[in-house]
Amino acid sequence: MLTLHIIYKMMTKYNNTYTCVPFGVTNTGSSCYFNSLLQCLLSCTSLIEASLQCKPINKITESFRQIVEASRKLDKSSASPIDMFAHKLWRDIITMSNSRKDQVRMSSGQEDAHEGFMMFIESVEKITNVKLLCEHRYNITIVCKDCNDIVVNSKEVGTCFEVSPNVFSAGNNDINSILYRSDNVISGFKCPKCGSTCDKVRSENLKMIPEILPIVLKKYAAKSLITFPEYLYFGSKLDVGKQLQYKLVAQSEHFGSMNGGHYWAQALRSDGWYIINDSSYQKINSFQPTDNTYMLFYHYVGTA
Ligand SMILES: [Zn+2]
Repeated sequence: MLTLHIIYKMMTKYNNTYTCVPFGVTNTGSSCYFNSLLQCLLSCTSLIEASLQCKPINKITESFRQIVEASRKLDKSSASPIDMFAHKLWRDIITMSNSRKDQVRMSSGQEDAHEGFMMFIESVEKITNVKLLCEHRYNITIVCKDCNDIVVNSKEVGTCFEVSPNVFSAGNNDINSILYRSDNVISGFKCPKCGSTCDKVRSENLKMIPEILPIVLKKYAAKSLITFPEYLYFGSKLDVGKQLQYKLVAQSEHFGSMNGGHYWAQALRSDGWYIINDSSYQKINSFQPTDNTYMLFYHYVGTA
């Protein structure tokens, strides 16, 4: 693992130069989940910065860049030219999803901000600079008691954290404990070293985190208020100046059931927090956890 002080020098900090002004996007019938996701993505300044610097490689990245460029020219009083680009982006994501017969994630009838996010990430997988903004890595080890040693050591790469709501507890802002995946005992696994099928301990440790941390709260069964912090930290508490600091920049809100409902967003813009609900937006004093919070977006802001 690279040491933290090497990693943070390569990471793109949240940058006020790339924040956008608030604007809404018209709901075309079933696109509120997409509008909510788009507002969350536009809160991530490193994504905006990278999309302005990288050449679009497909329709989706092209439309996203058009939205980013238009959002930077807007003033609050002007009519939004973004609707057209946003609706095109949404249609292209659905078309792309449908063209992948093995893995259809979305159609006009399947509406989920998390699935929309995963499709968006898949569409940028060939743009390394953009893809890496959301890519984290867990190191997975399996310890054999008979060998008394680590007998499997592998990596697992992901772009979105799915967590149980109860990982957030009052006062806890430590990423390692919030995104920790518990050690578990596996049985029947044959040790590649000694051949023993004794019970083994499988551990998953978060080893690398990117600029943007998208977190999905798995709370399909019951809606409840989850209080999550404005800032999260990654790294040793004992090592002053070496903790990576993350700030909450957006939350996707969902009201209803798994099969339907309504999405909107709370998002950080150039002059503060807004509730952005399809075409309307309203300034609020700060972010606010609610019973409906479904996705969180934290952004790297520097070391602490
Ligand atoms: Zn063994």
